[in-house]
Amino acid sequence: MIRSQSRRDVLKGAAATAAGATLPTPALAQASGGRVIVVGGGFAGASCARALRRLDPGTAVTLVETSQTFTACPFSNEVIAGLRDLKAQEFDYKNLRAEGVVVAFTSATAVDPQARMVTLGNGDRLRYDRLVLAPGVDLRFDALPGYTEAAAERMPNAWKAGEQTALLRRQLEAMPDGGLVVIAPPANPYRCPPGPYERASLIAYYLKTKKPKSKLIILDAKDQFSKQRLFQDAWNELYPGLVEWVPLSMGGKVTKVDPAAMTVETDFNKFTVAVANILPPQRAGRIAALAGVADRTGWCPIDPITFESTLQPYIHVIGDACIAGAMPKSGFSANAQAKVCAAALVKLMRGEKPDEPRLINTCYSIAAPGYGFSVAAVYHPANGQLVEVPGSAGTSPVNAARSVREQEAKLADGWFNTITGEMFG
Ligand SMILES: Cc1cc2nc3c(=O)[nH]c(=O)nc-3n(C[C@H](O)[C@H](O)[C@H](O)COP(=O)(O)OP(=O)(O)OC[C@H]3O[C@@H](n4cnc5c(N)ncnc54)[C@H](O)[C@@H]3O)c2cc1C
Repeated sequence: MIRSQSRRDVLKGAAATAAGATLPTPALAQASGGRVIVVGGGFAGASCARALRRLDPGTAVTLVETSQTFTACPFSNEVIAGLRDLKAQEFDYKNLRAEGVVVAFTSATAVDPQARMVTLGNGDRLRYDRLVLAPGVDLRFDALPGYTEAAAERMPNAWKAGEQTALLRRQLEAMPDGGLVVIAPPANPYRCPPGPYERASLIAYYLKTKKPKSKLIILDAKDQFSKQRLFQDAWNELYPGLVEWVPLSMGGKVTKVDPAAMTVETDFNKFTVAVANILPPQRAGRIAALAGVADRTGWCPIDPITFESTLQPYIHVIGDACIAGAMPKSGFSANAQAKVCAAALVKLMRGEKPDEPRLINTCYSIAAPGYGFSVAAVYHPANGQLVEVPGSAGTSPVNAARSVREQEAKLADGWFNTITGEMFG
């Protein structure tokens, strides 16, 4: 761990060399005339499509995205706690279109890597020089007995923001004071490592202020989690006696759920719950497997300089779907990877050698209104993997003054506004 001040300096230094900070202005960029298709218009895909157009306006960029509205996950835990409107999470693609990205609102249903063609939901086939897959995650409804897609209507995961987020919010509002809420995070790797614990904190805030006789239990499939000390200190300080964390080694792993009976089981216990937030194991979005770029883990191995698949040439995978070594699956990471990938694509299509990238990630978490903390690091390729740059990683200090937590909550807000502005503004 490094001191907050020096960590910021490291990050500042890295920002100057990160791909995001060195995009040439469109006026200087030369047209390559390449044709790139980007599948998925979330943190990774929308960022990549836009960066590509800015780096090289001569590149024809088509973004294929299922939904006309993107609903962002970061800050959706505040929606669940009643601290934010779901509308504040929603973005559209009109400004990407204005910059020359062709946006097709449909799903990519197949990829032919040999012919370099993508098939769309309406049967159209599009040819690419390079394909970028940024489909995010799929939830594995085959991994936990009882947890099917239908079960998610009674026991929401809310791990893709939108209707599931609103459902979990409504369930918390409807539950009686004195009820039990269970959150069941999966084993690693999964989207947003600190997300379940931020969610636990903010649900605890809601319960403390509105239903103080209630209890929240985290039934965890692992023994350690991101920013653990900071979360546990916050729970002790803000929600004493309300939040209980049961790790894997203490029998925390959920083995079965029954949505009709509203029960959640571990090897040792059966809980009857008022609200169950089940986070099933995950894998890369389905199109990745269909394209042949997902390996047996369900995730996509990539070259850490170009994000090109190691399984299929001319296909790049960015964001949650890829195996990015030490980088966590976050929106911040996805955006950084998108810009590195865009810069590499332009060079590859010009027959030039891509630069060695440095990528930053910062994950903020909010434990209560005005109470935030973060973890951050810089990453670079080494031995075919993305690894932490030694000395670059750090977390917020423990035992910090409330003013520090307040400042970090503001920084979190600022980060969200900046990144969504960069993507969609
Ligand atoms: C509760 C929660 C809180 C979080 N908080 C934070 C945070 O504070 N900070 C942070 O950095 N990250 C946070 N994250 C993580 C962040 O949301 C993800 O890491 C990020 O969204 C990953 O970006 P992505 O582009 O890979 O996937 P997504 O953003 O999910 O985008 C994928 C897109 O692909 C589209 N798609 C998929 N398949 C197809 C197809 N076949 N055809 C067309 N379109 C397709 C989908 O519709 C979707 O729009 C949080 C996540 C959760 C669940």
